[in-house]
Amino acid sequence: MAGAGTSEGAAQAPKPLSAPQKALRKMGLLRPVDLALHLPFRYEDETRLVKLTDARDGDLVQIEAVVKSCQVVFKPRRQLQAVVDDGSDTCTLRFFNFYPNMQKALEVGRQVRLRGEVRGGFMGRTMMHPTVQAAGGLLATALTPVYPSSAELPQAYIRKAVQGGLAQALRSQAFNDTIPAQHLPPHSWGLAQGLQFLHHPAPSVSLAQLEDKTHPAWQRLKAEELLAQQLSQLQAKRERQLLNAPVLAHSASPQGVLAQLRAALPFQLTQAQQRVVAEIAHDLARAVPMHRLLQGDVGSGKTVVAALAAAQCIDAGWQCALMAPTEILAEQHFTKLVGWLAPVLAPLGLQVAWLTGSQKKKERDAMLALVASGQAALVVGTHAVIQDKVQFKHLGLAIIDEQHRFGVAQRLALRQKLSDSETLDAPTAQAQEPHLLMMSATPIPRTLAMSYYDDLDVSTIDELPPGRTAIVTKLVADTRRDEVIERIRVQLTEGRQIYWVCPLIEESEALDLRNATDTHQALCEALPGVMVGVLHSRMPQAEKKAVMSLFVQGQMGVLVSTTVIEVGVDVPNASLMVIEHAERFGLSQLHQLRGRVGRGAAASACVLLYALGEHGRLSDTARERLRAMAETNDGFDIARRDLDIRGPGEFLGARQSGAALLRFADLNVDTALLDWAKHLAPIMLDAYPEQAARHIERWLGGKSDFLKA
Ligand code: ADP
Ligand code: MG
Repeated sequence: MAGAGTSEGAAQAPKPLSAPQKALRKMGLLRPVDLALHLPFRYEDETRLVKLTDARDGDLVQIEAVVKSCQVVFKPRRQLQAVVDDGSDTCTLRFFNFYPNMQKALEVGRQVRLRGEVRGGFMGRTMMHPTVQAAGGLLATALTPVYPSSAELPQAYIRKAVQGGLAQALRSQAFNDTIPAQHLPPHSWGLAQGLQFLHHPAPSVSLAQLEDKTHPAWQRLKAEELLAQQLSQLQAKRERQLLNAPVLAHSASPQGVLAQLRAALPFQLTQAQQRVVAEIAHDLARAVPMHRLLQGDVGSGKTVVAALAAAQCIDAGWQCALMAPTEILAEQHFTKLVGWLAPVLAPLGLQVAWLTGSQKKKERDAMLALVASGQAALVVGTHAVIQDKVQFKHLGLAIIDEQHRFGVAQRLALRQKLSDSETLDAPTAQAQEPHLLMMSATPIPRTLAMSYYDDLDVSTIDELPPGRTAIVTKLVADTRRDEVIERIRVQLTEGRQIYWVCPLIEESEALDLRNATDTHQALCEALPGVMVGVLHSRMPQAEKKAVMSLFVQGQMGVLVSTTVIEVGVDVPNASLMVIEHAERFGLSQLHQLRGRVGRGAAASACVLLYALGEHGRLSDTARERLRAMAETNDGFDIARRDLDIRGPGEFLGARQSGAALLRFADLNVDTALLDWAKHLAPIMLDAYPEQAARHIERWLGGKSDFLKA
């Protein structure tokens, strides 16, 4: 990779990269193709000059005018102020950052060309920080592209880099068609033609059509992108079908772990649970690695489904690993499951191994030995802990809970790790990959499932266990806190328990902590004689456990906490949840939190306390989120609305991995193109494998791994 993009000899030490070069690299813009596919997100019209009298408030314009005055003023703060006249009107220019050469360029009497946003304040027209050039230069003949960029990467630099990349890619015929002509979408532009156009559109073209991406050149780019996504996923799916996984046959033996677990369960499975259990059981009994997402709303009963899958795996003589995102969740979430399974395993000489970050070395080593010997049939921990240096004797099934917490890149790393750490003495010589079951309470909306998760089989629990009462959600202004505390008092006298959740302030863990401890203090004072506990991420593990167990056992009436209880905690007697600064939480997060109540038979409620922002109002997205919470309890509906509010990149956690998955296509708009791509992908892989490979390489380069995760 060293020296890429330069013509210097290979023997020479690579030159250190400049800041903009590094920035390009960070954005993944390495190859000419990547640069050529880095498309503008808007355009500026520098092809013409306008008159000030024709410019409306807020227009981005280019004018030529003569400088009438120019001086540094100090009120309200130091700035360079100039007045120019273009013959139709005058305009005041303001610069808060300026250099001596700027004053020179704006000497009285000079003819200048200015570009910037015109504001029509009551003091006359103004422009803040316009660009200044000498008047009379050539005007642009195409619209000027504005590229997605970063602080270290000036537009002029990235523009030049893109132009260079585009020219080079076109010269090397990198954009020759990969899609067979008879399969192109109707009225399709050529790819090279489309790219050239989008980087340098003619001034006559409608800016609106360019910016909302309905122009045929954009359509071609979107089609290409969607096809790349579908191709890479289909390919991953086919590759997986060729891999080997242990056959975890369903055992009908009444002595088996599965039969005994079923007999010990204190409830009947719901129809939906029975259906997904059968789907998973079927997958496990095949010699192809399962890659399945189990989705079901909070409280829908995913844990027991996991337990049954684990039992089937253990009956077949293989180990099962259970992972949650954090230690406290692993413990909270799997205690019940282990409580069901451990008594069944013990007579068979099998054990459960816990792997936690807070374990003493000696204990951990003992656990690791159990795992390596195969004596531990079930291995429970956080996914970080399990990944770290653990050797399984024969891992047959990995179950990851609360999958939505993991980004795409993390999932990929996990799969890789699991297949690396494979079987010391596998029954067959060929490498085996374990089955993978992911569980999530944040359902993936259909549009996303069809495009991003095509490689994933999905099982859905769409029914809650009987006897649940709907949770009533109330929005309450922070100023009415006292009424909320009164309500808590009433609940406590009825023997109920209460969660009080404080927001996590990302910029400052210290602040986050103070918030929780202040609230804890205030509630202790307001509720004398009641045990009020506090739980936050900075507490030592042992202390967290102690607090949690007091709450689980019912001695503690109120638990104040940061979002550590977000997922997985199961205390049926808790019937009220107060979420402070609810306006700061994401929608899925709020829904997850709310799911902690309404687990028992008592009528449950969730109070969303909100504080108005600086301007005495909530932001639009905060208002939308809170409204959605008050309007629906349905996780699928919530997920759809969340997707609308946040967009797919953030929804899927792709941001963390640095790979924006779909850059141009919009699944809400481009359904016809998605259908086209889904239809074409298998045809391409079967009949045009060479073009398909080229297509994936062009679009995804090194990134295609992200899509397989
Ligand atoms: P989640 O899907 O959010 O992980 P859990 O697995 O924690 O939900 O289940 C929530 C609660 O419902 C648990 O207390 C669990 O024991 C109980 N539960 C699960 N399935 C059933 C069922 N079929 N009937 C009654 N209760 C059930
Ligand atoms: Mg759960």
